[in-house]
Amino acid sequence: MSLLEIAGLSKSFKDRVAVDNVSFSAERGEILCLLGPSGCGKSTLLRMIAGIETPDAGAVFYNGDSLTGVSPQNRGFGLMFQDLALFPHMDVYSNVAFGLKVQRIDKKLEVKRVNEMLDLVDMSGYESRKIHELSGGELQRVALARSLAPSPKFLMLDEPFTSLDRTLSESIQRQVRSILKSIGVMSLFVTHDSDEAFTMADKLLFMDNGQVVQVGTPEEIYYRPGTEFVARSLGFKNILQGVTQLEGGVLYIKTEIGCLEINAENSCKFADGHRITLLIDEGGVKVNHLLSEEVKSSNYFHGIVISVSFHGTAYEINTSIRNSSFVFRVHVDQVGAPISPGDEISLIINPKFVRVLTQ
Ligand code: ATP
Repeated sequence: MSLLEIAGLSKSFKDRVAVDNVSFSAERGEILCLLGPSGCGKSTLLRMIAGIETPDAGAVFYNGDSLTGVSPQNRGFGLMFQDLALFPHMDVYSNVAFGLKVQRIDKKLEVKRVNEMLDLVDMSGYESRKIHELSGGELQRVALARSLAPSPKFLMLDEPFTSLDRTLSESIQRQVRSILKSIGVMSLFVTHDSDEAFTMADKLLFMDNGQVVQVGTPEEIYYRPGTEFVARSLGFKNILQGVTQLEGGVLYIKTEIGCLEINAENSCKFADGHRITLLIDEGGVKVNHLLSEEVKSSNYFHGIVISVSFHGTAYEINTSIRNSSFVFRVHVDQVGAPISPGDEISLIINPKFVRVLTQ
């Protein structure tokens, strides 16, 4: 059994199912990220794990013991909320010491622990600062120190970086991950930002409509998104419905933009005439100006450019293909001679970058 086991948790509010039979597990030191759109049940799930909300069904096990009926205080779990919930009338020291005072630990130990925590989050020397005298990033670090001071067995963080601007948020995410990893505390982050989830997580849990629809490492999820919902949440746009066609051991998919060859790994999995959903990674397409003498290889398509934009590391080209209304998106490092809206281009899709969604 894993250190933390979530077994079939469910919760409804009147006739609205907020969390529907959710199960997952976490190991010591692991950082999990719960990712999903607004209203999908993330906070309700977190609140049930924390013991603030009573589940209709299911249980939480820590180290093999059921926590059903155990109060939030006695679970020994830490929580850090979006609004950070720091006490504005107290200084930094008193905020970080708060949980230790509740535990009534010896004053010398309290001072030692607060100092350790402030050192850990790089806030030593700020003990007597008032909360309103801190920047956004400093507030986050004090809130983290306060959550970690009582040595929680498990730390839950509900959208902790939402109020920060993008640059600060990215830097704080890296710092927080490194702090959590250095002390080895098992943690669960809640977010609706997939970039944040990818930066923070050892394991991602995708939630939709009250259910966890996919669990995996960032690499597993990125390279094998299970559903269209997960693929779209990751920002993939080239998602197409198709029908399989096996010819001489090669698997082709008939789609609205034309017939696509996909890699051999998938060929053995599907019979002829199978309906599937696939995604084409925006980075797996070779783009060129249309040349009359061009050899028309497999996965060759003829497009008309709709728009081109520069995104720092790549150009994003939106193009129509054949007579389809589908807007196909490509990311390329360099486009040789500039490509402009209205240009006719050739696109060659690398079969390795065509992924079949498993559900
Ligand atoms: P967000 O990202 O916007 O915070 P979420 O994924 O955390 O959303 P929840 O807050 O868990 O979602 O809410 C899930 C569903 O349960 C929503 O439809 C919400 O309106 C409903 N809900 C949550 N708490 C209550 C409550 N106390 N009473 C009634 N309905 C509730």
